Amino acid sequence: TTDDLVAEVVVLGAGPGGYTAAFRAADLGKEVILIERYPTLGGACLNVGCIPSKALLHTAMIMEEVKTLGSMGVTYGEPEIDLDRMRAGKDKVVARLTGGLAALAKQRKVQVVQGTGRFESSNRLTVETPDGSVGIRFDHCIIACGSSPMTIPGFPHEDPRVMDSTNALALADIPARMLIVGGGIIGLEMASVYSALGSRIDVVELKEQLMPGTDLDLVRCVEKIIKKRYDRIMLETRVERMSAEPDGIRVVFTGKHPGEELYDSVLVAVGRLPNGKLIHAEAAGVQVDQHGFIKVDAHQRTNVPHIFAIGDVVGGPMLAHKATHEAKVAAEVIAGLPTRFDPLTIPSVAYTDPEVAWMGLTETKAKEKGIPYEKGVFPWAASGRALGIHREEGLTKLLFDPETKRILGAGIVGPNAGELIGETVLALEMGADMEDIGLTIHPHPTLNETIGLAAEMAHGSITDLM
Ligand code: FAD
Repeated sequence: TTDDLVAEVVVLGAGPGGYTAAFRAADLGKEVILIERYPTLGGACLNVGCIPSKALLHTAMIMEEVKTLGSMGVTYGEPEIDLDRMRAGKDKVVARLTGGLAALAKQRKVQVVQGTGRFESSNRLTVETPDGSVGIRFDHCIIACGSSPMTIPGFPHEDPRVMDSTNALALADIPARMLIVGGGIIGLEMASVYSALGSRIDVVELKEQLMPGTDLDLVRCVEKIIKKRYDRIMLETRVERMSAEPDGIRVVFTGKHPGEELYDSVLVAVGRLPNGKLIHAEAAGVQVDQHGFIKVDAHQRTNVPHIFAIGDVVGGPMLAHKATHEAKVAAEVIAGLPTRFDPLTIPSVAYTDPEVAWMGLTETKAKEKGIPYEKGVFPWAASGRALGIHREEGLTKLLFDPETKRILGAGIVGPNAGELIGETVLALEMGADMEDIGLTIHPHPTLNETIGLAAEMAHGSITDLM
């Protein structure tokens, strides 16, 4: 209609993918409209994902770490927890960041339209705003509508005691007994938080290990610690039934740990589903697969050449740093710059206590595919810094190509593993080899020097540790 808004680039969804794409396109001179159904920008990551979870995990980690000070002659009493203040503290971090995004959008003259968008044709969207419907015509569109927590049919998801990650981060209360369904990253991160706050935790996982797909030697380091903290970790076990009863959520398990238990709260963290089916993409001719994923090429282009897609909705690891990098590619391709999404690896981090981080080739994948590798492992029990901070459970592992000696992959467990993995990602992208890493002078005493030492272990220049 004549009342339609007009934009050179419309971005649908304002998560890390969407706002990054909108800002980059605006910086490259495009007129941009950014559509978001929620009142704040930032998507899952800022509002109900990465940021609030890490604010709580930091608190949880310190609460656990003060307990280790007994050996240094310092003891604390039982913590006093004011849940309202904790929630407010977390919300303040989120509000600062989402407020910052709103200011950045304004600065760049990115027009934000609040409402739920859907395609009407390949050049037009309508947005249901709080005050009615708005049409938007566009030359290019970037779909960045993200993902939502997966639910399980038959589970009483409508009961507030059955939570998804969003509800769990809302910190309504501290349940006495909590079940975490799904031993993946999100489930285990929330388990770290609630365990530190005093909940008794059970974890149930269908597969034979926690964080399925992650190398077992890394996962074992975490398991050793959390086994002591949690009541039960039930692997190869299925939640057969779940029912809401007045005195709790009744859960029936089958598999390796059959039985029946009553919990005050259950967190269902079994994965996330892409939102591709919710935007009426067919009206634009954009193909969406049966799960809701949208297929794109290395330019982030969908099957419709002027429509792009980025972030969780295109599949691959559902991570914010993947979304932001794809976002820049889409905006730059639209602006006519020669670019493509072509990383050698996308690092993964579980911000559990201890953290687990990995990148590049894993040993699991190497064995599966018969890829030869050499390995250097440095146990943190031999690191002066790790001993000094009473965190000797960690390890640093590097994998190298036996021919070229170039780094192929890395895995790190321990506090700050997520910070430490960055060096190895750069090493991989730069094609660094064993000697590059081993001969680089890392500061002493740091956890970071375990990376240099793991390379020396692989090289054979350190052969005997203790
Ligand atoms: P999203 O962030 O999901 O944003 C999509 C946006 O689009 C949303 O704001 C949504 O409201 C909006 N939208 C959807 N449909 C429409 C529509 N029709 N109209 C208007 N708006 C619409 N990743 C990490 O890298 N590190 C972490 O530590 C991490 N921790 C996490 C912890 C939790 C508890 C969760 C749930 C996720 C975590 N993630 C983490 C994953 C990360 O949040 C996602 O990968 C990331 O947010 C994906 O970005 P996106 O832009 O693709 O989508």
